[in-house]
Amino acid sequence: MKMRALISVSDKTGIVELAKELTKLGVEIISTGGTYKKLTDEGVKAIEVSELTGFPECLDGRVKTLHPIVHAGLLAMRSNPSHMKQLKELGIQPIDMVIVNLYPFKATIMKDDVTRADAVENIDIGGPTMLRAAAKNYQDVAVIVDPRDYETVLKEMKEDGKVSLDTKFYLMQKVFMHTSNYDTMIADYLKAERKDYDLPETLTMTFEKVQDMRYGENPHQKAAFYREVGKKKGTLDMAEQLNGKELSFNNINDANGALELCKEYDEPTVVASKHGNPCGVGSAATIEEAWDKAYAADNVSIFGGIVAINREVTAPMAKKMAEVFLEVIIAPSYEKEALDILCEKKNVRVLRLPDITAMQRETALDLKKVNGGLIVQGIDNKLIGDELKVVTDRQPSDQEMEDMMFAWKMVKYVKSNGIALAKNKQSVGIGPGQVNRIWATKQSVEHAGELIGPDATKGAVMASDAFFPFPDCVEAAHEAGITAIIQPGGAMRDQLSIDKCNEYGIAMVFTGMRHFRH
Ligand code: 5GP
Repeated sequence: MKMRALISVSDKTGIVELAKELTKLGVEIISTGGTYKKLTDEGVKAIEVSELTGFPECLDGRVKTLHPIVHAGLLAMRSNPSHMKQLKELGIQPIDMVIVNLYPFKATIMKDDVTRADAVENIDIGGPTMLRAAAKNYQDVAVIVDPRDYETVLKEMKEDGKVSLDTKFYLMQKVFMHTSNYDTMIADYLKAERKDYDLPETLTMTFEKVQDMRYGENPHQKAAFYREVGKKKGTLDMAEQLNGKELSFNNINDANGALELCKEYDEPTVVASKHGNPCGVGSAATIEEAWDKAYAADNVSIFGGIVAINREVTAPMAKKMAEVFLEVIIAPSYEKEALDILCEKKNVRVLRLPDITAMQRETALDLKKVNGGLIVQGIDNKLIGDELKVVTDRQPSDQEMEDMMFAWKMVKYVKSNGIALAKNKQSVGIGPGQVNRIWATKQSVEHAGELIGPDATKGAVMASDAFFPFPDCVEAAHEAGITAIIQPGGAMRDQLSIDKCNEYGIAMVFTGMRHFRH
């Protein structure tokens, strides 16, 4: 009996060549409508599935191969005499090879104007069924889901007249990886469509590898970047790289933080960041002034830093930026001359991301790997609780209020315990990642003095990512000349901090929302 191969592919690249070679090797080809047409147009002899089953393809292709003649042919175990006897009685011939790739669900949902109906119509039914049937019976059926495996299979067929058991087992394993990814992608898409933000009983998400990286956080760690399938606008992955080497693991991590903070601001803003913490942030009427502020805020840490900018980079600004060693620059656009200036340095990674202000999709989950599992939470995509509440006798001035909101956005992206000081929409001191709050406060004040000058904190405001357990931070703020404080509130001893503020004439605002970040 001739070997039989069933070919039914959406992606038809390389299929004609493969079918021709198989035919030469004496394999009989069976195929579905579109594939059959392609093959026979190119002069390959094939039998249409409908001829084999005696049943026409129907319902616009929804039913093509879903027939016992196909599935018994795939599932019958050649080593089981009873199976083979039944096949004979039923007049069914075994199928020895299946070449199937599925309807392009991923490509469909990646389209900007995709509708739910479109997506649903691109859920393949018969394809996965054949793949799973053939894979289950892998000892007898070679099943190819990935065109990259055509060559291996052909080579073995040419050399031995059959596909080895080892290869068939490998192909089987690939099938189940493929069909499980395919179904996960469908489930993820539908979940996002339903705006179903709940944490599911089992967590499945599809990430696809975009690139291997030279190494991870350190040179002895291997690393790669995986894109969340279906995620698009506003993500770093969508940026176009105009200059420089590939982004490293640390670049991506740091740039992501800088970008997300930059998205919080509407007016022209520059965020400089290092090791995942902002080190200099400035907002102003023009983007040049914003750069000047961000740079002046900390002209030490910005060395080797990442800069995210939410307006077009101008030539005069680029001139100033080129004097600093920067790892990564991200902006929505660049004046021609600005780009020429920045690209003079071969290593600076210059990225263009037009929709820099698009916020992250709300369905996203925040995942953190721990040994033995994942801790999963919703994204911290809010800023304040129900309302801002002034809790002191003194009301903040408009200027203080503006600066407090500026600093509050910033402190949300500072590692905890985090304190951020600001004046005139410029960061003046940042205390990140301390194991207690008073050290974070002291560090922010000290840095301000060291970097900007002894009066840097006079008239500045202070933002704290979580409440003050004791009034010691208010004390330190007063000593530094800080006049207004923004913090979540909610501590048992809030009143002690409020009393201290009243004693010193400091205005204090509660946000009702904490922003730990680790
Ligand atoms: P063709 O272009 O040959 O007409 O169709 C090929 C595609 O149809 C393949 O992607 C294959 O997975 C899919 N397919 C094969 N049989 C069935 C079936 O019975 N129902 C559905 N919905 N898709 C099928």
